[in-house]
Amino acid sequence: MFKVLKVDHLGIAVKDLEQAKKFYTETLGMQAMGEEIVEQQKVKVCFIPCGDSEVELLESTSPDGPVAKFIEKNGEGIQHVALRVDSIENALADLKAKGVRLIDEQPRYGAGGASIAFVHPKATGGILLELSERK
Ligand code: ZN
Repeated sequence: MFKVLKVDHLGIAVKDLEQAKKFYTETLGMQAMGEEIVEQQKVKVCFIPCGDSEVELLESTSPDGPVAKFIEKNGEGIQHVALRVDSIENALADLKAKGVRLIDEQPRYGAGGASIAFVHPKATGGILLELSERK
């Protein structure tokens, strides 16, 4: 069994992280955290906390990365929604048992040291869903 705890963050695909960040910090007055490059996903990310959730800005570090491909297809915008779960292992085992189509069968490293896995949009009504566990 597992439990969904909250909306962890919204993942927003942008072409220019510095530029996008300005809207949140200068226009909306929010406070951005440091940037991190996640090699495996070919992205540079920046989290901007917002109450109990966060906005995650994602800029591709390579033209063949998933975020670059997303922007090519859809333009900039919300790329995924992340829900915090209490146990990523239990969540994946449970969803597998229910026959839910997963992108990641095993948890992988996510920015900020989270343990994450993506659920296929075909299984969620069109949303790329990230499950995230933070210890
Ligand atoms: Zn994310």
